[in-house]
Amino acid sequence: MIKRIGNTPIEEKHRASCHCGAVVLELALPDGVVDPRRCDCSLCRRRGAIVASVPLAGIRILRGEAVLRCYRFNTHTAQHYFCSVCGIYTHHQRRSNPAEYGYNLACLEGVNPFELGEVPLRDGVNHPADRSGSHLPL
Ligand SMILES: [Zn+2]
Repeated sequence: MIKRIGNTPIEEKHRASCHCGAVVLELALPDGVVDPRRCDCSLCRRRGAIVASVPLAGIRILRGEAVLRCYRFNTHTAQHYFCSVCGIYTHHQRRSNPAEYGYNLACLEGVNPFELGEVPLRDGVNHPADRSGSHLPL
């Protein structure tokens, strides 16, 4: 359970924002930052974000719903949201667990993700949803 990153305590209701500030989210993080990961899927390898988890009810959009855009690819299950003004990825509804959002750890206010230390890697090339049935290329 990660309750502090660098000098920034993780609040039970912690705000997150995109770069330009058009999008502001409130994240419910009663257990702090949960399960931070990097991922090597075709999307994450390009965007490079560290992603942590919240249940769907754990994100409230305080501002900027109208400027959020959604990107889908491959099976079109996951919904990747980003600010259409500054382009920063904020959060996504997961394909591996649609009851969860992943969110961009670097969007948490006051948090410098480089102070997190070593971050585990998720195997996004061999996606859990592809392991049974036919293998889909990314
Ligand atoms: Zn923005």
